[in-house]
Amino acid sequence: MAAVWTNWSGGLQCRPTATVRPLDDSGVSGVVRRAAERGQAVRPVGAGHSFSALAVTDGVHVDLSAFRGVTAIGARSGRPTVRVRAGTTLGELHSELATRDLALEAPLELAAPTVGGALAVGMHGSGAALGSLSAAVVGLRLVDGKGRLRDVAPADLDAARTSLGALGVVLEAELAVVPAGRVRVTRAPRPVDEVLDDGFWDAHPVAEAAVFPSAPTALTRWADPLLAHDPDDDTEDAAEADEARERSLGVTVAGATGRTALGGAVVVERALPRLVPRFNRAVSRLARTVSATGPMYRVLSSPPAVRFEQTEWALPRAALAAGARELLAALADDGLEVGLPVRLRVGAPESGWLHPAHDRATGWVAVRVPRGTDHAPVLERAWRVLRDHGGRPHWASRSDWTVEDTARAYPRLPDFRRVRDDYDPERVFATPELAEVLGD
Ligand SMILES: Cc1cc2nc3c(=O)[nH]c(=O)nc-3n(C[C@H](O)[C@H](O)[C@H](O)COP(=O)(O)OP(=O)(O)OC[C@H]3O[C@@H](n4cnc5c(N)ncnc54)[C@H](O)[C@@H]3O)c2cc1C
Repeated sequence: MAAVWTNWSGGLQCRPTATVRPLDDSGVSGVVRRAAERGQAVRPVGAGHSFSALAVTDGVHVDLSAFRGVTAIGARSGRPTVRVRAGTTLGELHSELATRDLALEAPLELAAPTVGGALAVGMHGSGAALGSLSAAVVGLRLVDGKGRLRDVAPADLDAARTSLGALGVVLEAELAVVPAGRVRVTRAPRPVDEVLDDGFWDAHPVAEAAVFPSAPTALTRWADPLLAHDPDDDTEDAAEADEARERSLGVTVAGATGRTALGGAVVVERALPRLVPRFNRAVSRLARTVSATGPMYRVLSSPPAVRFEQTEWALPRAALAAGARELLAALADDGLEVGLPVRLRVGAPESGWLHPAHDRATGWVAVRVPRGTDHAPVLERAWRVLRDHGGRPHWASRSDWTVEDTARAYPRLPDFRRVRDDYDPERVFATPELAEVLGD
C-alpha cells in the first residue's frame, strides 16, 4: 500500500493501492493494462493543487513527473505551437518557452500545477478575450482505458481538452503559443462599483479584482502589452518591492501573505478573519498606483503564502456584477468572514464541451477561506448564490455539484459521454468524484 496522498490545501487525503512513476509511454500503457486486469482504478495525478476530490482514489496513482519538458516546436496555420509533456510544471513551461522567445497567451500566474492537471480542469487566468490553457490545445496524445497509445482525433478534441482526467492519461499536448512580449502590469485600488462595471474588464487585455465583503474599495491588477520599441526597461525588481508593500497589508490581488502588519507578525490562518474590518479600512487608504514591466508570466507571478480552501464559479459574463454584489452582500449580512478577498476574473467563451466557460463569455468568482478557519458555512453560502446566477463550478474547486447539474448546465455532455465510452469503456479512470459529477 502506498503512502497517504494529500492535496495542496491539506483538505483531502487518500491512500492509493500503489503510486507508480512510469518512465516512458509503454510504462504508462503497462500500468493501465495491469490495473484494468486487476479491476483497479487508475488516476493520473499532477501537483495536487485541486481543491476538489478529482485525484482522490483507492486505486493506482500515476505520477507523471518523469514526463517533463518541451519536445518539439512547430506551427499550425502559420501560428507557432509547442509539444510539451504532461508532467511539466507551468513554471517550467513558461521558462522553456521564454528561452525560445515564445509564451502562453493565457495569463497563468501559478508555477506549480502540471500541464496535464491544468488541462484536465481547464485552468484559466483573466482577460475578456483570453482563453484557458485548454483553449490552446491543438493536439493531445494519451493512453486510453485499454492501455492504447492514442493521438486524439480532431473530432474528439473538444472532449479531451478539458476532460477531468476521464478519458485517459495525457502524455503530451501540442499547444498554440504566441511570440514572447512584455507587458506593463498596474496594481491600483479602485471603487468596487467601478470594477463591477463592464468597462473595467474591457479596458485591458488582462484584468482582475479582489474585493472584501462590505469594503468600498477593491484591489485591482491589469496588464497592457508594451510595443517592441517601448524604451521601458523591465522593472520586475520594482514590482517585487511594490508587492512587498502590499504584502505588508497582509494581502495582494492574487492571494494573501503569511503575515499582516495590521496585527504585527501573526499567523493569518487564525488571525486574519478577525482583522478583516481593519484590513478593509487599510486597503481603502492604499491610494497608490504601482506598475511594473516585463514578461507576463514573471510580472503576474504571485505565489500564495497561506493555504486555503476555494470555490470558484464561472458565471455568464452578463451576470458577474449582480452575482458578485449578491455574494458580497450575503457574506456580509450573514457575518461570514472570508479571511481572503473574493477574487473576480473574466474569460472568453471556450469550445471544450466540459469547460465551465463553455460557449459563453464568463465572469469568474472565487471565494477563498484560509486553512484553519471553518470554511463550510462560507463555501456553502457562495454555492447557493453563484448557482442561482447560472454559475458552473471550476472543476478543481470545492462544490456540491452533481451529475444532474452537469446534465442541465453542459449541453454537450451526451457527446462527451460518447467519447468517454470509446476511450474508457470499462471506466478504468473512474473515481467517486467523477461518478458524482459525470455519472458512471
Ligand atoms: C494556490 C492555488 C492557485 C490556483 N490558481 C488558479 C488559477 O489562477 N486559475 C485556475 O484555473 N485554477 C487555479 N487553481 C486550481 C488549479 O488550476 C488546479 O488545481 C491545477 O491546474 C491542477 O493541476 P495539478 O497539476 O495540481 O493537477 P491535480 O490537482 O494533481 O489533478 C487535477 C486533475 O487532473 C488530472 N490529471 C493530472 N494529470 C493528468 C494527466 N497527465 N492526464 C490526465 N489527467 C490528469 C487528475 O487526475 C485530476 O483529475 C489554483 C490552485 C491553487 C492551490
